[in-house]
Amino acid sequence: MTEPGAHDRIISVFKPMENAIGLAYSHATGDLTFATLSASARALAAQIASVQPGDRSPVMIFGHKDRRFLIAYWACLLTGRAAVPNEPDLPPRRLAGVASVTGSTLLIDAQPDGHDAPIGLTDLVLPVPLLTTAPGITHPPIRAADQDTAYILFSTGTTGEPKGIEVTYANLADFVGWMDQMGSDIGNPGCISANVRYCFDVSLFEMWLSWLNLKPMSGLDHGDIWNIGTYLAQFSADDLSIWVSTPTLAAHYVRHQGFCSDTLPALKAMIFCGEVLPKALVRTLFARFPGIRIFNTYGPTECTVAVTCVEITQAHLDADRELPIGSARHGTWLSADADTTGQGEIIIHGTSVGKGYLGASEEQNARFIAPHSYRTGDWGMQDAKGDWYFKGRRDREIKLDGHRIDLNTVEAAIRDCRDVRDVIVAPPEEGSRMGGLRAFVLGIATTEALERLANEAADRLPPHIIPRFWYAQEDCVFNASGKLDRKQVQADMLARGVRHIHTAARKTTAEKAMAIKSEQDAA
Ligand code: AMP
Repeated sequence: MTEPGAHDRIISVFKPMENAIGLAYSHATGDLTFATLSASARALAAQIASVQPGDRSPVMIFGHKDRRFLIAYWACLLTGRAAVPNEPDLPPRRLAGVASVTGSTLLIDAQPDGHDAPIGLTDLVLPVPLLTTAPGITHPPIRAADQDTAYILFSTGTTGEPKGIEVTYANLADFVGWMDQMGSDIGNPGCISANVRYCFDVSLFEMWLSWLNLKPMSGLDHGDIWNIGTYLAQFSADDLSIWVSTPTLAAHYVRHQGFCSDTLPALKAMIFCGEVLPKALVRTLFARFPGIRIFNTYGPTECTVAVTCVEITQAHLDADRELPIGSARHGTWLSADADTTGQGEIIIHGTSVGKGYLGASEEQNARFIAPHSYRTGDWGMQDAKGDWYFKGRRDREIKLDGHRIDLNTVEAAIRDCRDVRDVIVAPPEEGSRMGGLRAFVLGIATTEALERLANEAADRLPPHIIPRFWYAQEDCVFNASGKLDRKQVQADMLARGVRHIHTAARKTTAEKAMAIKSEQDAA
């Protein structure tokens, strides 16, 4: 008899779902009960085991937010194979790249009825069954070893070719243990958002909190993000209790006055990940949802979703620095070779660190400096109490007119100014004769407000690092992960945004009066 391992831990979450009564998923294209989820996943797993006996290659799941995706995901786990989520909006060339890098022999079509699945990428394409009762003959779960891959998520490497991030069953079981803990800390979670696309690992917060607590997820398709009213009506009807997203998505919702406790009275916790959490957003959320608990989590996909967490308090908001990203979860620790400023590159160690990259160059794989250590490329520091602070990406230092400028510092100062939802600071436009940093600001609608902001920033920053060119717009643009699409937002603002040129010699009213008087005196 072998010791229970990571795969057993995963299967132990599945078993109670088979006896659970009620909804597992609420979605416009069809709801899913726990009974249907577990019976259909078992049936699909049995089918896979019988048509591909002994095949352990990764399985491509092709789908978006339909309930079939969750069934397909569990069928992969029950057969001990790696799940590889693929969104239908991926270009065919990219899909072919994923199939070739992973060596997948099976694609599960998890789209709603009436959509074509890509054929020819894998030996076999299977649809997802929807059964209300468990099939007579099922297959016992096929055990995976701790170091077998549980899922692979793709990001674009520097070469533009897909780079697969491999996360093992041991990594996943460790994350599931953390989610169990987080569920108890929040206390009796109810319905959980399904805001995040399944190709982005922040969705694992939503899925595992739902499955561990036998509570439904509620979501719409990503394309419905702009229908905030529809979303709110669904969340309200489903008694949403836990919200998970990037800060950018929540900042988008905040623009709707209905995003408040009157509409969502059951909402008691919000979990953020993936981007800097701005203080202004947290202040607004505390005001809109009195008593809400807000958690900031941080981590790269390479280290199984997230590795640090902190509950944000009023003291954090009042402190004269950015919000912390918290301390490491159990089994993981962080280090940084701090320079004289106390900052250094964050290195993550421990059970959360994934296996490595598939299809990546040796240079990219060198980020995994030891079997359980990953060099993040993020800049950070730890305070005396043990909380970590994110200081931006390592590679954002530029040289301008002889000055070394860290674009992260400029962004952090502007982000702290009034009305700013987020900001991107970019180096001078290439070939521009006028030079000067460029600031792209979200949340500002008029040139006057932009000018006020530039002046406010000028009061906080040394003159040589104040951006000269300012652009703004109210709307954000999301990438596939629901993060701010930094490239697109800059392009949009250059094309359509409001603009302002900041000139260094700003004078106070008194200084202006003095200057006029001395001119008059001289005349
Ligand atoms: P991804 O692998 O797409 O989840 O991106 C991981 C990267 O997002 C990290 O390496 C950080 O640069 C950034 N990130 C994740 N969480 C946070 C956070 N809470 N605050 C600031 N940046 C974050």
